[in-house]
Formats: sequence, structure tokens, C-alpha cells
Amino acid sequence: MKEIVHFGHPSLKIDSTDVLEFDKDLKNLTDEMIQIMYDAPGVGLAAPQIGINKNIFVFDAGDGPKVAINPHNLILEGSITFMEGCLSLPGYYWDIERAEYASLDCFDLAGNKINFAGDDLTGRVLQHEYDHLNGKVLLTALKRKERKAALKNISLNGFPGNDV
Ligand SMILES: [Zn+2]
Repeated sequence: MKEIVHFGHPSLKIDSTDVLEFDKDLKNLTDEMIQIMYDAPGVGLAAPQIGINKNIFVFDAGDGPKVAINPHNLILEGSITFMEGCLSLPGYYWDIERAEYASLDCFDLAGNKINFAGDDLTGRVLQHEYDHLNGKVLLTALKRKERKAALKNISLNGFPGNDV
């Protein structure tokens, strides 16, 4: 089983590239990602979080596992503050303001066009995972002062979520 990489790992800092082959390997990879996400446990996992810079993420906002391939055309509406964490920053949570509603076009495992959209947890997960594919982690969504404090905290304490 692949391991989740932590904040600071190079694959979390770069843009991912599109999936070109919708084959058995892709299905196997997303099955493994879903397993890793549930084991963690978490509500979303992007491929860069296991060191694979491909435009893939999986999520489960409460109604079963979903796979998003090559997501694009992000549409955002409204704004809401929500407590948010990340499997690559285990043990940390911050109140983060983002759009309340998000819609994202993508492809399913067979290469069919699909759309994921919603507010609350769904909207939040879509934005969070999409950021990972663009080399961003949730620290970039923090205000400057909070981000400074968070970086200091991480350098002093590491990732306490690993020990629980
Ligand atoms: Zn994350």
C-alpha cells in the first residue's frame, strides 16, 4: 500500500498532469486511493498525496466513494468558513473561508464526462482536492498571519496526527 506524503514533500508543490489512458491501471490506482482514504480516515485524497502527480482525486462526502479524473472548469459561489484539515497535515485543523458552493467538470473511469457539485462538505472537498492538483495545500488558503503561526507550529511539533 502506498503511503500518504506530508506537507513539504515535492509532489504536493507542483501541478499535476492529465490522465490520458482510461485503463485497468487507472481503476486499480483509484481503488487503492479509496482504500487509503478510508484507512486514514479522510473524506478526500488527491493523487499527489501519494506521490503521483496525475489529475485524479477520490472523495466521499457521505454518500459513497467518488472518483474524479482530469477535473476542470471549477465554478464557485458564495462564501463560508469551515473547519478544515488535510491528510498531508495530520493533526492540524484551521477555520478556512472558501466558496460555499463548488461545481467541477471531470471524467469517470470509463472516460465519460461527469460533474460533481454541491455546497457544505461536498463543495469544500471539491475545492480542497482540486487545489492539491494545482500544487496547493490548505495553508495557502490561510491568512498571512495564521499561515506564519501554522508553519512555526509544524516546524516545532511535526505532525501530531501521526501518533493518534
Ligand atoms: Zn489535503
